[in-house]
Amino acid sequence: MIKFLDLTKQYNSIKKEIDEKIQNVISDSAFIGGKYVFEFESNFAKYCGVEHCIGVGNGTDALEIAIRALELPAGSEIIVPANSFIASSEAVSVNGHKIVFCDCDPDNYTISVESFKENITEITSAVVVVHLYGHACKMDEIIDIAKANNLKVIEDCAQAQGTKFKNKIVGTFGDISTFSFYPGKNLGAFGDAGAIITNNPALDEKCRMIKNHGRKEKYNHLFEGRNSRLDGLQAAVLDVKLKYLDIWNEKRRNLAEIYFEKLDGIEDLILPKIEDWTTSNFYVFVIRTSKRDELQAFLSEKEIPTIIHYPIALTKLIAYSHLQQNTGDFVANEYDSQYLSLPIGEHLEKTDIENICSEIKKFYNK
Ligand SMILES: *Cc1c(COP(=O)(O)O)cnc(C)c1O
Repeated sequence: MIKFLDLTKQYNSIKKEIDEKIQNVISDSAFIGGKYVFEFESNFAKYCGVEHCIGVGNGTDALEIAIRALELPAGSEIIVPANSFIASSEAVSVNGHKIVFCDCDPDNYTISVESFKENITEITSAVVVVHLYGHACKMDEIIDIAKANNLKVIEDCAQAQGTKFKNKIVGTFGDISTFSFYPGKNLGAFGDAGAIITNNPALDEKCRMIKNHGRKEKYNHLFEGRNSRLDGLQAAVLDVKLKYLDIWNEKRRNLAEIYFEKLDGIEDLILPKIEDWTTSNFYVFVIRTSKRDELQAFLSEKEIPTIIHYPIALTKLIAYSHLQQNTGDFVANEYDSQYLSLPIGEHLEKTDIENICSEIKKFYNK
């Protein structure tokens, strides 16, 4: 049977290492802070090629804390792509800034560089770029535009652990970057977990204080912060899995190749465009089709699970109706009825993907 995600299979493949490490955390009672958190932070920073990594409770906290640490002017505007998970925009409002949505690129679905540029105003202070579906945003142009307009760049890398832009890991281009280690992400914990990375020591210190009640020492609080911790057990699990991330991502890329080969040439099935600037981690494999709901139902009958990322563009959510942004010409508002994420992951084999492709072909040949 084909599963969309199989974390049990993944666990069984590295069970001995994981169990040993978890046992160590318990034996050491290193539940909060301590050496396992320190080790993972240091190994993940090294993996990304940055100076600082701050473990936090989840990817949403990571975004909220990162934006707060930037100390942007109150009420300033932050540009967010319309095609993402709501956490990318929630973090803007939570910090007292105004969300300004921009469109996604019609081909690779990450932030549209043109739309980003068009939406910059005198009170824009930052942009949140999302390396959506594991595909890198066009970072060179984004950084140039941000510099020219004095904007901070936050990279939401929740779906892009190990993804590269022109051979450099994403999360290393902007001012500050955030990760989610939700279990279903390419690098996932056994519960909630997240991290912030940066090369800026002042931002590192600020984030560490925000996530720890605004303190450096035990009861000397310099401002009101919050509690957001990466716990020792999660850090230990992540540290074991980090060693396999590149291997698992490579397997995803190889499986994606089969989709590209077998699904090529089907009218009304648009394969994702993987730009030559990116090495994608294929967090999800998203196709577009005008018969999305029918195809999903057909595959479901054949016990092939699919998911939709995301069925409602952020611009159209009830949560954002009050923003009243006129985004009628956004492709993001049209594509949300066409996206379908096909199964991909290190738990699948070449034959699984071939079977999925042959069922998809049957659907279109009906
Ligand atoms: C998963 C995800 C988040 C949120 O991460 P959590 O760990 O679930 O809080 C943020 N942004 C994007 C793009 C995501 O996919």
